[in-house]
Amino acid sequence: MKTAVLIGLSRHRIGVDGSGVTTLVAFHGCPLNCKYCLNPQALSPEGVWKRFTPEELFRAVSKDDLYFRATGGGITFGGGEPLLSGIEILQFHSICLHKDKKWKINIETSLNMPQLYVEMLKDVVDHWIIDIKDMNPHIYKAYTGKDNKQVISNLQYLIDNNAKITARVPLITGFNTELDVKNSILSLERMGIIDIDRFSYTVKKH
Ligand code: SF4
Repeated sequence: MKTAVLIGLSRHRIGVDGSGVTTLVAFHGCPLNCKYCLNPQALSPEGVWKRFTPEELFRAVSKDDLYFRATGGGITFGGGEPLLSGIEILQFHSICLHKDKKWKINIETSLNMPQLYVEMLKDVVDHWIIDIKDMNPHIYKAYTGKDNKQVISNLQYLIDNNAKITARVPLITGFNTELDVKNSILSLERMGIIDIDRFSYTVKKH
């Protein structure tokens, strides 16, 4: 079995990343390089916290089985970029099925990965929480160092497959404006996304 490389695990979260009580499982590694990275340990070799096999991860998160079942909650995979660890998530999910645990599976992702990774998890993830950054490709590139074409085509793929989506659109000091945020929201609405979370990064340069 593959080993999940983690930067942290956060229990008893309510209303921040999926319905009910959730445990955030944060993976190491990310293809982006956001100027105000919220989890810089995901990008640094020193940021590795623990390595778990999917079986060990299952045992670690099972402590909160009662909370998950009582509240309709479950596991939120974040990071870093959790799609990089899609195989480990699949293995974790098959253990859940085997043990008859019907916890919700949420994923917090930039979606900036080849479509294959999204396809792999399409039937496993209940709720996709997508960090859009900005829909404008120039702003996106200036902020993350990468193109956002793949984000938009993956987004369309999820829409076409009736996935539950929350799109997160931040105001990013020094990179976009209120007008840019409005334009991003309009583009997302035109694609058919209804659940849009607009917020501001409170950032410190590092
Ligand atoms: S996507 Fe997240 S983890 Fe990756 S560089 Fe951006 S803020 Fe950091």
